[in-house]
Amino acid sequence: MKQFILPELPYALDGLAPILSEETLSYHYGKHHATYINNLNGLIAGTDFENMPIEDIIVRSEAGMFNNSAQAYNHTFYWYGMAPKKDGDSLPSGQIGSALDEAFGDFEAFKAQFSEIALKHFGSGWAWLLKNKDGKIEMKGMHDADTPIKDGDTPLLALDVWEHAYYVDYRNARVDYINAFWQLVNWEFVEKQLLAPSRESLMLPQ
Ligand code: MN
Repeated sequence: MKQFILPELPYALDGLAPILSEETLSYHYGKHHATYINNLNGLIAGTDFENMPIEDIIVRSEAGMFNNSAQAYNHTFYWYGMAPKKDGDSLPSGQIGSALDEAFGDFEAFKAQFSEIALKHFGSGWAWLLKNKDGKIEMKGMHDADTPIKDGDTPLLALDVWEHAYYVDYRNARVDYINAFWQLVNWEFVEKQLLAPSRESLMLPQ
């Protein structure tokens, strides 16, 4: 039978420090993300879901299988959407820069709206930038494991606002985590999702 594996991070465990510490990644990637994948493998074993791509499992499942498949996918997307810190905020350019300007006015307006969604999201969940089925770029807060994949939309950027994403480094101050996140965004990845989404390459069954 096929099993999903924990995808390798595109940087070292301390690669996002000091914004996100090695301790945070050790737990968030090494424990939380790994557990979703292990749970998913246990749930699909011996079922019709066993050989499906993860996107199909997300669309067709519910309850525990939905939660674990979506979280397995969402976390991979979150990790790929970040890259080691450079000097100052990471700024979008090229076609993703133009697309954000067109959709939200300018980058600062986009950043403010996205940050507010992330900050005001009540409880566990995600802030998503996505391209919807009509090709329009929008952002939304989604609860718990919920993901644009479920609605047939194309995810572009994910920000995890579950407490486990920031509590080690920022305690209860979600706002500080959100403000720091902008230094890590991998806009090349976001642009690639906008132009030629290759989500199947993110989590192939092994
Ligand atoms: Mn998480």
